[in-house]
Amino acid sequence: MYGFKLRPHHSLCIRFFRGEGYSDEFVKEMSRIIEKLESENPYVTLTVGCDEICKACPNNIGGKCKDFDKVERIDNNCLAELDLSGGELIKWQALKQLAYKSIIKENKIKSVCKNCVWQYLCN
Ligand code: SF4
Ligand code: SF4
Repeated sequence: MYGFKLRPHHSLCIRFFRGEGYSDEFVKEMSRIIEKLESENPYVTLTVGCDEICKACPNNIGGKCKDFDKVERIDNNCLAELDLSGGELIKWQALKQLAYKSIIKENKIKSVCKNCVWQYLCN
């Protein structure tokens, strides 16, 4: 079964999204994707690499994030806290709840999302 590609750490970013982002196009696309996830609750495939959200991001250079090392570290921190692996399929609402319970509620954003420039928005 194929799921909607989603970077693990984007399950956190989505929770804190307030209409700010890398460009107007990115914000529009992020809003559209969140609406789709919430209304359809699809299976997502956890992807340590560019996903559906990255497609509209100006930092996506030829299919690779320009902050590749940093975001890969954040993805892997996130997977470790969620006790999940890259490539796993999970329903969006289950992932969202797990991310909330294991990371957000436990105040682990600072350590999981180390060096993210948007951290001030994610409290
Ligand atoms: S700190 Fe950065 S990576 Fe973490 S949830 Fe916020 S925007 Fe996403
Ligand atoms: S900064 Fe990188 S990981 Fe984040 S949305 Fe843009 S391309 Fe994707």
